Amino acid sequence: MAWRAQPPQLAGNHTMKDETRLVTLGRDPAAHYGTVNTPVYRTSTVLHPSLEALDAGGQPYAYGRLGTPTTAALADAIAGLHGAAGAVLTPSGLSAVSCALLSVLASGDHLIVSEGVYEPSMRFVESGLRRFGVEATVVAPDTTDLAECFRSSTRAVLCESPSSLTFEVQDMQAIAAQARARGMRVLVDNTWATPLGCKPLALGADVVIEAATKYISGHADVMAGVVAANADAWPSLRRTHRELGLCLGPDDAWLALRGLRTLAVRQQRQTASALRIADWLAAQPAIARVLCPMRPADRHHDLWKRQFQAGSGVFGVILKPVSDGALAAFLDGLGLFGMGWSWGGYESLVVRTKPQRSVAGVAAEGPLLRFSIGLEDADDLIADLHDGLARLTSAA
Ligand SMILES: *Cc1c(COP(=O)(O)O)cnc(C)c1O
Repeated sequence: MAWRAQPPQLAGNHTMKDETRLVTLGRDPAAHYGTVNTPVYRTSTVLHPSLEALDAGGQPYAYGRLGTPTTAALADAIAGLHGAAGAVLTPSGLSAVSCALLSVLASGDHLIVSEGVYEPSMRFVESGLRRFGVEATVVAPDTTDLAECFRSSTRAVLCESPSSLTFEVQDMQAIAAQARARGMRVLVDNTWATPLGCKPLALGADVVIEAATKYISGHADVMAGVVAANADAWPSLRRTHRELGLCLGPDDAWLALRGLRTLAVRQQRQTASALRIADWLAAQPAIARVLCPMRPADRHHDLWKRQFQAGSGVFGVILKPVSDGALAAFLDGLGLFGMGWSWGGYESLVVRTKPQRSVAGVAAEGPLLRFSIGLEDADDLIADLHDGLARLTSAA
């Protein structure tokens, strides 16, 4: 294979699979003396060879904040995987959400938002955007008919599917069809699914957001966000990203791109383990309900299957009511599951969560847990949970 500047073209009408694109996108060995990976470019200043080049604005790179080969490699790969016109990088998933919203809204506009979005996203909508004169209507995640919510000032709909914490699936196709008919933008936080599990732009959305902090980087060592947009939404996204001065540091961009290379194998393994563990948990007497649309038993499974090509390793569990002491006996003694925020890394996590909303039935039942299944052996994880539930039962 010669050094090359473009992903290889395969013969005939063979369509390259995502697994191959994860390996080939965002690489340009010819531009870097044949090195396999695009190096870490640490720079603020880019020198221009002449006054003419300086006046021309610098091509393709002009200034560190505006992009380097390192950040362009990651952005190109994300845009390619989502079939987007372009993608921008941000220093966290939350700043990806806020940048995306600011790119489609202005003072006086109205936004429709799913009740199931990540809670800090909801705070940005209800507190941050409100200060700038944007009103929001919050709808239940399983709302498919938005007719009653539309106002003449409605400009956008923010979705997240499955919902953070409670894992309801949204009918993104139905929502996008209604919104598009009215010229509104549809934004989807796709962090759970990654570009391998769901391609919201293909379902009719305009903007897709992901916390690369989670599965894309995959090793619990990066804070990063990505936003990709279709051709309609891209000019405004790119402009807003520049106006806000957002950029991702070179080392974080490099780590996120390195994580992306192995996303497919991690995600397949974590999905398979998560399904086994969710099934096992569903059969335990201490468990009231498992919230996992990948399971055929889930009420949203059919909708999930229609819109997702792959699963992921994160799901929820509602316990039967127990004391905090019994819950602590379960969680504090776990050997393989850490308790901490974020998810999507190689290591298994569990947290008790408290959604600030009245999701059907959840509040009435027992504690709500969120599991993120890592790359450990699934039997080992089940053994850890088995011991934990025995501690819970004897403490109850
Ligand atoms: C974690 C998360 C975010 C925010 O990402 P950060 O990198 O922590 O800012 C946004 N959306 C979803 C769905 C998330 O899970």
